[in-house]
Amino acid sequence: MRIILLGPPGSGKGTQAQRLIHRYGIVQLSTGEMLRAAVAAQTPVGLKAKDIMAGGGLVPDEIVIGIISDRLDQPDAARGFILDGFPRTVPQAEALDELLRKKRLKLDAVIELRVNESALLQRVESRVAEMRSRGEEVRVDDTAEVLVRRLASYRAMTEPLIHYYSERRKLLTVDGMMTIEHVTHEIDRILQAIGAVEPKTDSKAAKKPAAKVASRKSKSAKKPSNGARKAVRGGSRAPKKAIGKKAAKKGAARAAAPARKRAAAGARKAAKKAPKKAGKRRA
Ligand code: AMP
Repeated sequence: MRIILLGPPGSGKGTQAQRLIHRYGIVQLSTGEMLRAAVAAQTPVGLKAKDIMAGGGLVPDEIVIGIISDRLDQPDAARGFILDGFPRTVPQAEALDELLRKKRLKLDAVIELRVNESALLQRVESRVAEMRSRGEEVRVDDTAEVLVRRLASYRAMTEPLIHYYSERRKLLTVDGMMTIEHVTHEIDRILQAIGAVEPKTDSKAAKKPAAKVASRKSKSAKKPSNGARKAVRGGSRAPKKAIGKKAAKKGAARAAAPARKRAAAGARKAAKKAPKKAGKRRA
């Protein structure tokens, strides 16, 4: 699974990314974290990025694109990844498209966490007030003033990506104002609907329909799909018998793909509508 999490600061991207990496065994690629590590290690990239980051500006594209490209080549990214904090601008999104094309990787979805900005500000304000009343130190970047600046930068630089990915039919919007649990559940639901992940269930009964598809579509089980054939070509170490079974299984799974695609179209529509309604309720 390869996804981008999009949303303004405070929308819960980091929290949801953590939940996704545990659930699906994929990695989180956060340019902010990678840059902070580079600054701490005083690498050439870190030295270039240090002052820009301190001033809250954007690090030049060639630097962030370079670190993302290198990171995508590492073995732990092969199972899938969540991009967090990248791309941040349309030119970065275009560069990412090019990178993925060259690496022959396909993006499954861009998940936008839509939030109510005034509610975000209220949250920060009350958190800061509570911390001060307890005599705790408030982080310099965790104030309403800083949030206002970061939200403005998000609107100007990053929000155009919503249109970019919506045009490419990749955008799925989730109401980020729901509880953390609900947002996670909603993300899971839409990822399943578009076929990016398999439904998580252990019950035998729930597995039955898949078996039915396999027997009804016995053709696909005998004649593996393109994807399965590729897997056979790539899997030179696996014994032939195992490859046959694997390919049959994949073929059967792919037989369900058209239904998934229809579900995906529905999910995209539903996901687009849902947050608006929820937003109205909360406004
Ligand atoms: P973040 O942790 O995502 O808020 O990022 C922290 C800082 O790293 C940002 O304020 C930028 O200075 C820099 N940064 C992170 N990601 C990017 C990016 N995609 N493009 C440019 N600068 C970035």
